[in-house]
Amino acid sequence: MPPRHILRFLALLALCHATLLAAAPIPASVAAVAAAQAHAPEIASYQMDVRLDPAAKTITGTERIRYTNLSRDTLPDLWLHLYLKAFSSLDTLWMREAGAQHRGFALDPSHLGDISLSRLALADGTDLLASATVTDTLMHVRLPQPLPAGGRVELDAAWVSKLPRVFARTGYGGPNDSFFMVGQWYPKMAVYDRGRWDAEPWHANAEFFHDFGSYDVRITVPQAYIVAGVGVPAGEQPGGDGTKTLHFTATDVTDFAFAASPDFRTQNARAGDVDVALFYLPEHASVVQEYLDVSVGALEAYSAWYGAYPHPRLTVVDVPDSAGGAGGMEYPTLVTGGSLGLPLPGAVGLVTSHEIGHQWWPMQTATNEGREPWLDEGLTEYSGIRYMAEAERRIGYGSTGISALALERTQYAAAPDMPATRPAWDYTQAAYGADVYAKTALGLWTLERVVGTARFRQAMADYLARYRFKHPTGADFRSSIEQSLGGDLRWFFDGYLASGSPIDYAVDPIVSRDAGENVTIRRVGQVPAPVDIRITLASGAQQTRQWNGAAERISYTFPSDDPVSQVVADPDHKLVAELNRLDNGVSTRVEVAPALTLGGRLVFWLQAAAQLLGLLG
Ligand SMILES: [Zn+2]
Repeated sequence: MPPRHILRFLALLALCHATLLAAAPIPASVAAVAAAQAHAPEIASYQMDVRLDPAAKTITGTERIRYTNLSRDTLPDLWLHLYLKAFSSLDTLWMREAGAQHRGFALDPSHLGDISLSRLALADGTDLLASATVTDTLMHVRLPQPLPAGGRVELDAAWVSKLPRVFARTGYGGPNDSFFMVGQWYPKMAVYDRGRWDAEPWHANAEFFHDFGSYDVRITVPQAYIVAGVGVPAGEQPGGDGTKTLHFTATDVTDFAFAASPDFRTQNARAGDVDVALFYLPEHASVVQEYLDVSVGALEAYSAWYGAYPHPRLTVVDVPDSAGGAGGMEYPTLVTGGSLGLPLPGAVGLVTSHEIGHQWWPMQTATNEGREPWLDEGLTEYSGIRYMAEAERRIGYGSTGISALALERTQYAAAPDMPATRPAWDYTQAAYGADVYAKTALGLWTLERVVGTARFRQAMADYLARYRFKHPTGADFRSSIEQSLGGDLRWFFDGYLASGSPIDYAVDPIVSRDAGENVTIRRVGQVPAPVDIRITLASGAQQTRQWNGAAERISYTFPSDDPVSQVVADPDHKLVAELNRLDNGVSTRVEVAPALTLGGRLVFWLQAAAQLLGLLG
């Protein structure tokens, strides 16, 4: 595997997507709350009629937005996202942050994107466009009458979206430039949450923060085009002018996207009650089965772990290698995959299982990815690598394949010094992958192993039940997890996630004294993670001690008549996030001096070699 492929692959893993507010009181009965939340509140719903012009690379559309103010506040104004403006020049915030590239895919400056409105009005015809102002990717709209709490406003918009040549999630490309991935593409309501509008322009790292609602979308395309859309297909009508119009509906979702290509082939599968619809390209016929197996397997796994997937259909969109920037992205009920420049078995599965994880985080929890991206990418990355491990899927050929866990540890090791809980815009692209994705994922896996898989999954399911179809924050997640696990998890949330310190323990050389054999374990990092310590005596007897890691070190003394032959911190590798295991074990006795003997050095280097192999393969 050439290094550039590894880099692109890791970069992709890293990037597909604050103020902590006080946590809301946790509802006591998870079951009662879950039963009451079969459907999302309809806050922002859209009825759209749009036409794709494949030659001009444009979408011309009209929409009616039905916005309901479910806050307690009166709103004198509204904010709309015009995401495609991010690609309209090199000077936008997105372009400046991204350096006009994304995950190794470069912008084509001669094919930029844009979106422009020709109409924005209330349903009674009152114009809103003349007084609206646009800054970067945001439109600020003053209302002639404030919108009271509980009130509803209907907006009519007409617009043209110009798609960029795809390098970052949305646009066109592929053979004959006839593949279209249409995302972040229409005038879309911002979110009013906890007393304020989330009026952040689009940032390079962040993707989503949207309200729930329903979508009723009609898409007109040339007859030859095959369309994959969010939600479920609800009919198709010929246009009489060489076009056809496809109808899609979706409920309990936060966004709408679609893909279109004359080259799509389709395959279907079932995951319980859910239809899995794969739209793939002939160039990737060899991975159709991998797409289907992983889509079904991941849907079933996450449904069992966290709670059932709440939609009747999941659409999986393959992307051409030459439009790889569209791959590895999530929308509600629709994900994009692709081989992403890594022509290895397992790559499609790794990407697809991650994107399907997003169907829980954030598609059901609608967290703010800009302010708290770890609640979105971190939880999803954990889900994906756990699925890959449970399904015994590796990346690469046969026994030389790499586990998703090994890749994750490599990614974390590249930049392990930042907290995982910062806003998306605080990170470089590389640190975003290392800390928001990998650090969070490895931390959650560590927590799972410390408390036990069944308890951990129940805690995650409780969190989903409490906050499905809401906008939970990191504080809500923490309160929910701590309540479910029945304890204070400061070591995890403050010590690990919110700090730049790693989990790291070390075992000192065994020391023989008159009083007996002395064993010392040191906490090297700042994170007081609970750790097991296994002591093996010369007789073969073993003892395991649990240490809470609160102090900087702990010592144990054993009688000299059965000397200590080995000490290992974290012998069962529960601390999945501990990168440096080189110093976790000592099996050589020394006579007082705390220096490594020749034997100790040999053990050290053998462990170093083993760890290196663990990281790479
Ligand atoms: Zn993701």
